[in-house]
Amino acid sequence: MKMAQAKSLQAYAKLSSADTLTNMNSTKAGLTEAEVKSRLAKYGKNVIAATKKQSLLKVFLTNFTSMMAILLWVAGLIALMTGTPELGIAIWLVNLINGVFSFWQQYRAQQATSALQKMLPSYVKVMRAGQTNKILAADLVPGDIVLLNSGDNIPADGRLLSADSLEVNQSSLTGESITVNKETDPQTDAALKNAGKYAEANLVYEGTSVVNGSGSFVVLATGMHTEFGQIASLTTSVAAVKSPLQKELDILTRQLSLIAIVIGALFFVAAVFFVGYPWPKAFIFALGMIVAFIPEGLLPTVTLSLAMAVQKMAKKNALVKHLNSVETLGETTVICSDKTGTLTKNEMTIEKVWLPTDDYTVSGTGYEPNGIVTKAGKKIDLAQEHDLLQLIRIASLCNDSAIEEKENHYQLVGSPDEGSLLILAAKADYDLRDERKNYPRYNELPFDSKRKRMSTIHQNNGQNYVFTKGGITEVLSCCQSYLKNGQVIPLTEAVKKEILAKNDDLAKEGLRTLAFADRILQTTTNLTIENCEQNLTFVGITASQDPPRENVMEAIQRCHDASIRIIMVTGDYGLTAKSIARKIGIVKGADVRVITGDDLANMSDSKLKENLTHEIIFARVAPEQKYRVVSLLQSLGEIVASTGDGVNDAPALKKADIGVAMGITGTDVAKEAADMILTDDNFTSIVNAIEEGRTVYNNIRKFLLYILNSNMPEAVPSLLFLLSKGMIPLPLTVMQILTIDLGTDMLPALGLATEQTEPGTMKKPPRKRTEHLLTKQIILKAFAWYGLLASIISIGAYFFVNHLNGWPTTALATDGTVYAMATTMTLAAIVFCQIGAVFNCRTAEQSLFKIGFFSNKRILGGICFEVILIACLMYVPFLQKLFGTTGIQLQDWLFLICIPLPLIIIEEIRKKMIRKA
Ligand code: ADP
Ligand code: MG
Repeated sequence: MKMAQAKSLQAYAKLSSADTLTNMNSTKAGLTEAEVKSRLAKYGKNVIAATKKQSLLKVFLTNFTSMMAILLWVAGLIALMTGTPELGIAIWLVNLINGVFSFWQQYRAQQATSALQKMLPSYVKVMRAGQTNKILAADLVPGDIVLLNSGDNIPADGRLLSADSLEVNQSSLTGESITVNKETDPQTDAALKNAGKYAEANLVYEGTSVVNGSGSFVVLATGMHTEFGQIASLTTSVAAVKSPLQKELDILTRQLSLIAIVIGALFFVAAVFFVGYPWPKAFIFALGMIVAFIPEGLLPTVTLSLAMAVQKMAKKNALVKHLNSVETLGETTVICSDKTGTLTKNEMTIEKVWLPTDDYTVSGTGYEPNGIVTKAGKKIDLAQEHDLLQLIRIASLCNDSAIEEKENHYQLVGSPDEGSLLILAAKADYDLRDERKNYPRYNELPFDSKRKRMSTIHQNNGQNYVFTKGGITEVLSCCQSYLKNGQVIPLTEAVKKEILAKNDDLAKEGLRTLAFADRILQTTTNLTIENCEQNLTFVGITASQDPPRENVMEAIQRCHDASIRIIMVTGDYGLTAKSIARKIGIVKGADVRVITGDDLANMSDSKLKENLTHEIIFARVAPEQKYRVVSLLQSLGEIVASTGDGVNDAPALKKADIGVAMGITGTDVAKEAADMILTDDNFTSIVNAIEEGRTVYNNIRKFLLYILNSNMPEAVPSLLFLLSKGMIPLPLTVMQILTIDLGTDMLPALGLATEQTEPGTMKKPPRKRTEHLLTKQIILKAFAWYGLLASIISIGAYFFVNHLNGWPTTALATDGTVYAMATTMTLAAIVFCQIGAVFNCRTAEQSLFKIGFFSNKRILGGICFEVILIACLMYVPFLQKLFGTTGIQLQDWLFLICIPLPLIIIEEIRKKMIRKA
């Protein structure tokens, strides 16, 4: 068997499509399952192996080569060399544990994001053993016949077998974004030479996408054998772009580190010259300060909490592609949303049919043909209703969808609009099967969202007919006459007005209308849109109900509470859009501006900007026009999320700060351009994702506040020691500072990063993009409030021991147990202050009891961990020796246990006062 990998792709370009098929041992009907199996075994899965990932070992090692880690290694070394080996080992130990912990966080974040990619499988339509199937793109093999439609990604390299106005975007390979026309004819040597790389008109390449038209091809190469795969194997890992938050954190960490080093240097100088410490001892002392102030663990924790948020969003039907988007979601100020399918269910049921002669009512809902068509309250007999019959004929034959009956249940294959028309036909007892035979279709002018019409050409009794359906204005503009009791009557302006007025009445009720027209065609040549869609005879209108999605009204209310605007951008008719927008609460005022695509095309930027400051709906717009709306909103300073599903939506999706693609109805191209994909196509999922985005940012702040809290009580003891010129022995040793910063604080802090959404999160306006993570408020709260309280309490604990057992210097002179006890108490008091603080950090303004005092299990676990850790330090002899700690007495424990509660009560009172103000 000769196969693609043996022959160059260009060689196939010269063969006819039939020869290519024989060469590939395939047929138009496709491969058999057995053949697929054996080829899959031979050629492997059709996947592009991920570009080289950063090796785990390298990631692991970076955690031990950060500035802080290096400082600690050096400090440990100095301690070892200057006669305090326990201190040196302890410092190294703490450094090691901290590094492993950071690595574990990074690893988990990576796992979480890579798991997401698996949730986004891509499917392709193939022909196998004579049947069309939807299969995973990974299961394609050379020789498979793939069917392409507008918006599809091309899943492998191949030779075209058919191409119908096929245009392909090959920018992923060539970098040029102009689309390339494709055809099936064999290429000559000369043509190939002129064309250059990837330009062979009858070849398609993996990684490119269909922009227009349709076609089919036989697969020549899959996976790493494709051109795209070969390029991918050459490029090494792409550096991940840092998100704004990560950049800010980088800067923040650097700034805080700089401050830490300055403080450390000052302490060093003071310790040497003021207290008279030898320099190695002073260095380690100063190092304590540096470690206290460096916000270690900030970056990995933030990355992990972003990754966990992404996981959470995925469970709520919003797949986010990059961590950046999580942040942007929290800043979103405007959502530009489609209507059909996103805000509404996209389950159309026709309720009314209007003809210039008669009105009809249709009963029943859903895709079950249970219901009847009535006229003036009586069931109709279709044979007596000539005009209605013609409307139903157009509706069912100018139609690409089908309703399939499967085990007593009806299933729609195709679009809901068209499905509803088929149901109407069934309810009117129309014999579709017979009519299909009588009116064979031999051409189609497919629907496109710019023209908003579609037409099909049929033959009956030697006559050729054009059947057209589409939006009312779009159809009526092609009509010159109308049908009345079987007669074709010229369309006067008065009748036109009457038709439009009737349509508007229906649209005002929120019904979606479709108009139908036909004509007899004299020729069968030159069947262009211009030639066919003119001089039509208007037949009638159908009006269908598309109910709002469940919960969409609440979601819209939540957006309004959260000061997020919603702008409906739809292809549907203005009055229908307005009625639905009002029904679901998107617009409320009296002055709602409905701007159509035509208005938009003729509107200056400044006028549009002015309009954008009002309640506004965009109706009858083409997807291309979304781009302009999005970019003008952005120029007004808005952060825009925009939805879309088609090929033409891609530019707007890319332009938007958050491009949202529909997972179910969306094309591959739209999904590729988007930042977020909704697996349920539901507007509510966008709002949930925004809430999650806000929550994450708030949690990172809570986390930051908490780890900054302990800086003050860690610094004050050293300050006391220095200011008293060493009269007051150091109340907290360097090792003990390390214990808090790199030990006890870790797990509770991580718990804060996973806090549930705080009530009221969606009652505030979005965060400003310019707002910094670390605000003055947080600094004040951390240093001048929580930090101050904790300093007073911990120093109090130190002196409490002295008060009971005597001044430590005297005792220190004898055996040092009182000193050890006093410092242990300082340490333990800080830890217990942090227990209070972690509860206080859980909310910014809400009462703790509202979110449930014990509702965060991770925090409770973290607290247990830190209490056990501190108890170990107190009672395990080996650790006692390393950390200069000792066992404490019962009254000391009582003192400690009493610390958190008053702290929490004071904060609850403060928060209550804030809520009142
Ligand atoms: P939307 O779904 O938001 O209404 P579309 O671009 O899908 O936007 O459709 C625009 C309009 O084109 C619809 O409101 C309808 O009037 C018309 N339309 C939609 N689908 C079809 C179709 N298959 N055939 C004819 N007309 C259609
Ligand atoms: Mg649509």
